[in-house]
Amino acid sequence: DFDARFPLELLGQFAKKTPEAPCLTFYEETFSFAQLDAASDRLAAALADRSVKAGDRVAILAPSSPAFYELFFACGKIGAIMTPINARLSAREVAAILADSKPVLMLIDSALMPLLGDAADTPDLVLLDSSYRAWRDAARDMPPHRDALTDDIILLLYTSGTTGKAKGVPISQRNMLSVDRTASKMWGFSDHSVNLVAMPLFHIGGMGYGLMALSQGGHSILLDTLEPDAVISAMRRYAVTHAFFVPAVIQRLVEHVEHGGHSVASLQRLIYGASPISENLLLRAIAAFSCAFNHAYGMTETAGTVITLAPEDHDPGGPRAARLRSCGRAMPWAEIVLVDPATGHPVSVGEVGEIRVRGDMTTNGYWQKPDETDAAITHDGWFCTGDAALQDADGYFYIHDRYKDMIISGGENVYPAEVENALADHPAIAEVAVIGVPHAKWGETPRAYVVASVGADIDEATAIAFAREQLAHYKCPTSVAIVDALPRNASGKVLKQELRAMADREARI
Ligand code: ATP
Ligand code: MG
Repeated sequence: DFDARFPLELLGQFAKKTPEAPCLTFYEETFSFAQLDAASDRLAAALADRSVKAGDRVAILAPSSPAFYELFFACGKIGAIMTPINARLSAREVAAILADSKPVLMLIDSALMPLLGDAADTPDLVLLDSSYRAWRDAARDMPPHRDALTDDIILLLYTSGTTGKAKGVPISQRNMLSVDRTASKMWGFSDHSVNLVAMPLFHIGGMGYGLMALSQGGHSILLDTLEPDAVISAMRRYAVTHAFFVPAVIQRLVEHVEHGGHSVASLQRLIYGASPISENLLLRAIAAFSCAFNHAYGMTETAGTVITLAPEDHDPGGPRAARLRSCGRAMPWAEIVLVDPATGHPVSVGEVGEIRVRGDMTTNGYWQKPDETDAAITHDGWFCTGDAALQDADGYFYIHDRYKDMIISGGENVYPAEVENALADHPAIAEVAVIGVPHAKWGETPRAYVVASVGADIDEATAIAFAREQLAHYKCPTSVAIVDALPRNASGKVLKQELRAMADREARI
């Protein structure tokens, strides 16, 4: 059985069991379990004083800070819904999220105030500056805690907006039971773990992952930067045992180590995922950080990871090295099927189908978007991810790409991730993204955007020739643009819509 507890209960339990144990460190300040629990009690009281009620949204627009943790638990205690907003969005995008989520109150970093410029109805504001703690602590006594009702919505998280406008995803306490399960059963967290939480907390890869150590009584080290120097020195300083990064960050950390920077001897487990990783980068990461690895596949709508590749499947020299290209097997508590999106019928082993997920972790539907909800969730409760994958006879999944990004060239399906993976093997190529562009004869043809490795040169002909050595002709890019950087969002995902717009402009010149 998969008994699991919600992080809210766990904080209270550890605040009693190990009150003095370190729970959360941010720069020079450490909160013990008792201190974080008390701070969230006072914030809950301060919110109640400002008339925040059960079901109300409380937004936070700030770089990562302990206030995110205080707010998460405070909201749980009064039944409010924490709504983190991506601090890297434009004023227009922030205004759209405020209009959609209608928070009654917002905690905001003073430096981000200009982002409110366009917002029509601004919520009640609390500045996250030197006055914040005095405000939080001035409140009257704590209102009675609500029972941990497992279907209460605790978080309203917006998707990364990689394929369009960010969608609000209500996440219930039940959805988040997977935090405890994943931490203890799959990723080796215990009360001895020291977890680096560096990915931004407005994303499930930050907010969900950021509770992994806490849920087991371990210590979380919070960072508000992804600069390799700062990340590595924080990991060394606190003898970090666990960390999660998206591939774009792994790339920078690996380059740092490859260029003579320190690695991290204390590291036991490195978890990577949220967007495709090339096999080349994964092998370099395994060499740079000699620890256990887990691949993580999941999304906002599943409150985090639903497929994971275990450490024992990360042996480059072993008989099952091909599994390094897999994102792993379904979590034991997640049902996952691959279906033909056209017919809804399951596909056979080895055939490409859409990943569909069912279980406690999947959201009940998008925030105020009934049409999107109907399109994404079947009548019998399967969440349709829009991701194409195949599964082998041993149950391992291999992600191909999003269906929306699939290229159809001369009637053949081309998955950009496969082409990107092949090109990434070239030593002079640091980053690559492939999109489909219109072609008179084939309908569409792959076009690659390539960033050269530091100190290396790459040209279009070399890149195309290299792809042709490894891939069927119809999968090879017919044009390659060398660029300084790829457009990425805050989750490190390549914004293919921007590349398509670029290609469109280039074609018209
Ligand atoms: P939006 O839904 O707004 O377009 P998004 O899908 O990028 O944005 P997230 O919920 O952050 O928003 O990301 C989930 C998606 O990320 C998945 O559906 C999948 O396409 C991709 N993804 C997640 N994990 C992996 C992985 N391990 N390998 C490849 N792709 C992944
Ligand atoms: Mg999505």
